Amino acid sequence: MKILLVEDEQKLAQALTKGLSLEGYTVDTIADGKKALTRISLHRSDYDLIILDLMLPSMDGHEICKQAREMNITIPILVLTARNETDTKVQLLLSGADDYLVKPFSFAELVARIRALLRRPNESLPENLTFADLELNPAQRRVLRDGKEIPLTLKEFGLLEYFMRHPNQVVNREDLLNHLWDFNYAGFSNVVDVHVKNLRRKLGEGHGRDILETVRGIGYRLTE
Ligand code: CA
Repeated sequence: MKILLVEDEQKLAQALTKGLSLEGYTVDTIADGKKALTRISLHRSDYDLIILDLMLPSMDGHEICKQAREMNITIPILVLTARNETDTKVQLLLSGADDYLVKPFSFAELVARIRALLRRPNESLPENLTFADLELNPAQRRVLRDGKEIPLTLKEFGLLEYFMRHPNQVVNREDLLNHLWDFNYAGFSNVVDVHVKNLRRKLGEGHGRDILETVRGIGYRLTE
């Protein structure tokens, strides 16, 4: 799951990015309001959630929220507000935010809100994902095949979750890269293939059939 964090307090942004990465989320950070809106409008399909500070340089969080919703962008938005701001929950919800958190907040509280937003029924994110004999629980970060637990790294888990949310579809490498690596990623270009290879090996151990098919020149498909 990929999160766009729009926050101009550098220390807070760094701490949140680090914490959320450890929770298994991929995080892109932007400190400027207008840049954030541009990013959201051009890369809307990359993000599962936006965490949005209200007081930002060049454009405030209310305006970003409003304009994003006017562009029919439906990504859940969690707003961060300072205690002394007079905004009411009603105002925030009117501008299109899904939830808000008053600073300072605990990291555990933030994670709980994120999970709740990503679980919303209208976002069609079921708690447990199943495909053939695979079962994946995002909250517990567990994967079972045929009832047996398969230990995966965070990236492998992220890949499998993405495949299971797009079953029987050809998923291209670029989608995976955009979704699971942050935009500062400058490593080697076959990183996706390497992780998919490891994931496939782990899933396949003790099973004859390969559930993750390579679609030559394009990407991969989770198939029965
Ligand atoms: Ca701020």
